[in-house]
Amino acid sequence: MPRFRAILDTMPPYRAGKAVVSADGRSYKLSSNESPYEPLPSVVEAVARAAGQMHRYPDPAATGLTEALAERFGVPAEHIALGAGSVTVAQQLFETVSEPGAEVIYAWRSFEAYPLLADLAGATSVRVPLLGEGHHLEAMADAITPHTRMIFVCNPNNPTGTVVQAAELEAFLDRVPQDVLVVLDEAYHEYVRDAGVPDGVDVYRDRPNVAVLRTFSKAYGLAGLRVGYLIAAEPVASAVRKTTVPFAVNQLAQVAAIASLAAEEELLERVEVVVKERDRVRGALVAQGWTVPATEANFVWLRLNERTLDFAEACAAEGVAVRPFAGEGVRVSIGEPEANDTFLAVAAAFPRG
Ligand SMILES: *Cc1c(COP(=O)(O)O)cnc(C)c1O
Repeated sequence: MPRFRAILDTMPPYRAGKAVVSADGRSYKLSSNESPYEPLPSVVEAVARAAGQMHRYPDPAATGLTEALAERFGVPAEHIALGAGSVTVAQQLFETVSEPGAEVIYAWRSFEAYPLLADLAGATSVRVPLLGEGHHLEAMADAITPHTRMIFVCNPNNPTGTVVQAAELEAFLDRVPQDVLVVLDEAYHEYVRDAGVPDGVDVYRDRPNVAVLRTFSKAYGLAGLRVGYLIAAEPVASAVRKTTVPFAVNQLAQVAAIASLAAEEELLERVEVVVKERDRVRGALVAQGWTVPATEANFVWLRLNERTLDFAEACAAEGVAVRPFAGEGVRVSIGEPEANDTFLAVAAAFPRG
């Protein structure tokens, strides 16, 4: 048998949200924080036109998309790096800083991909427990050592939906050495309505050790096509571009992302509807007697501890797929009203404990 890296034996597999069906055939996928909307016709048309050229390699530099993003955010094109989903860009970030002994700090619980990517890159994970349901930035700063190379701040945090405020982020960044990269993972930025939450694209402008991660998968509804990006000072963006596998972002994804930026107003109207639904769902849960952290993302978090899997099972019986983290809690995406109402009915019937 071939010999593999020992780390592979200890790595938990990434568990993607899976579909469930009720006895009477209903199925709602609230497990992956996807957009509940089908793609816009203008985006589908752009992809369909590009499909006729799929025998050709994509533009390796993704020039059109890079320029569209540079214009959208008012940043130089050299400050942008693209990947097949922002999780790939995150993987590339790990590759740019990791070597034996390198430490990467992140909150826990946070995005499930971080420990996986750290293990794969050969970096050492330093997990700092959440304070309540949010980042404990002071403890994260305290965890910095001479070996620290990178820190992830997921804002809003997946899976708790909590946010870091501008003032606390700035105080934290002031404590981080210049040679440590801070990655603001803003996969859910478009859903944020709290005016105190920083926009990473403003933060990075004064801070050469700050990188912003964004994605087309959530608010822009392109999860199936895989395209995400990083915005950071030139040395950071250029290091990430060096780790890109040639032709990583396929042509249909490039075209769809450009068309989505062109249709941004329409897409952000949809986001606004999801935000209203989110507030309705959280309000209903609180009225039912649940403790639900304030959420600025397109999901809610229920800390169910040892009853987590029972709750997920109760949801599955009604055809609602949620994301359980055994022993901790359940993350439930905001979907179409019918899906949300079905979930709320399960929550209403489940003992509060
Ligand atoms: C969904 C998500 C991503 C990225 O997803 P991609 O589809 O790879 O762009 C990144 N970070 C967090 C925290 C997420 O929840």
